[in-house]
Amino acid sequence: MKLLKDKIAQEGKVLSENVLKVDTFLNHQIDPELMQAIGEEFATRYKDEGITKIVTIESSGIAPSMFAGLTLGVPVVFARKRKSLTLTDNLYTSKVHSFTKNETNDISISQNFLSSDDVVLIIDDFLANGQAVLGLLDIVEQANAKTAGVGIVIEKGFQTGGGIIRERGIRVDSLANIKSLANGKVEFFEEAST
Ligand code: 5GP
Repeated sequence: MKLLKDKIAQEGKVLSENVLKVDTFLNHQIDPELMQAIGEEFATRYKDEGITKIVTIESSGIAPSMFAGLTLGVPVVFARKRKSLTLTDNLYTSKVHSFTKNETNDISISQNFLSSDDVVLIIDDFLANGQAVLGLLDIVEQANAKTAGVGIVIEKGFQTGGGIIRERGIRVDSLANIKSLANGKVEFFEEAST
């Protein structure tokens, strides 16, 4: 997606060979117009898949998911990373090791919001080693729901996550796919992979 790749090229900061900072438009400050374009792109790609629910993870997956949900006319459910006083029982739970924070957390979704009738589009901001998406896939499986695919804003294609998930036969649509962050520069694969 050219708009997104241009934004990454202009505003992304390469923190190391493995980490890209995009807090001017995705991870801290949010660019609503860009999020809308991203959400609409996911919606267009999945419009014929019978999606009933978007599933994401707090917090940076929520913004693009909202616009995808708005366009597809379906609710957005986000997995919570921390225990909540109001989210007490009847949970689907999975363990996720965070790439950026180097800690393992339980993520949870209430059983009220996911069932065997659902066809799910999973959306997240980054795909690195795939742990966040694998945790969400685990939760969708616990609910006996169907996963139609995974929409990723920025995939780091040089890390393992994309391969692991595609090898399971799951469709992955990334709107920008990074080939390398070496030498402080962002290099993309020619086409965002699906
Ligand atoms: P994974 O679970 O695929 O290893 O990592 C995905 C999660 O880690 C994303 O939800 C995102 O929050 C975070 N993440 C992974 N790599 C990066 C990165 O290069 N930059 C930023 N800002 N977040 C990342």
